[in-house]
Amino acid sequence: MNETQIRSARAPRILQPMPPPDSLGPNPHFMQQAIDLATANVADNCGGPFGAVIVRGEEVVATGVNRVTSTNDPTAHAEVTAIRNACAALGAFQLTGCHIYTSCEPCPMCLAAIYWARLDAIYFGNDSAAAARAGFDDAVIYDEVALPHPGRSIPIQPLLSKRAWSSFETWLQSDCKVDY
Ligand SMILES: [Zn+2]
Repeated sequence: MNETQIRSARAPRILQPMPPPDSLGPNPHFMQQAIDLATANVADNCGGPFGAVIVRGEEVVATGVNRVTSTNDPTAHAEVTAIRNACAALGAFQLTGCHIYTSCEPCPMCLAAIYWARLDAIYFGNDSAAAARAGFDDAVIYDEVALPHPGRSIPIQPLLSKRAWSSFETWLQSDCKVDY
């Protein structure tokens, strides 16, 4: 081994330089906005302490807060409200190209809504364990989804399955359907 090879073998690994920030990556400013919305929602007495912001690039498309108790709507979680507002603002039923910042890790309903809306990324503040400490424990719903039908707490069973297929048959044969 010559001198150059010895130096090379002992040389510390040179770390690659950090890549430049991705303009479409997480932006703490938007998360702070979601957190501020959640906190303000408590003072406004409109619902639970949850806020969400949907952005496209560096532009805020829409925001949402939890309005379950003020609108008697159990589905009015911050993420669902933000998705509804964003879709209305863009005149679209899909939010491809958008990211959602939510003050708390999405519950199963909101997570499903985010997938249906085709959002590109999810950033959350509080995780589900923190939500449970604040009295919002959705672990039971996540657990239920994984259970077979007979094991679930809300009874669920098929009924008129063969007749129900006629709706799908109509859909499959329709000339005016809009795929989503
Ligand atoms: Zn939710």
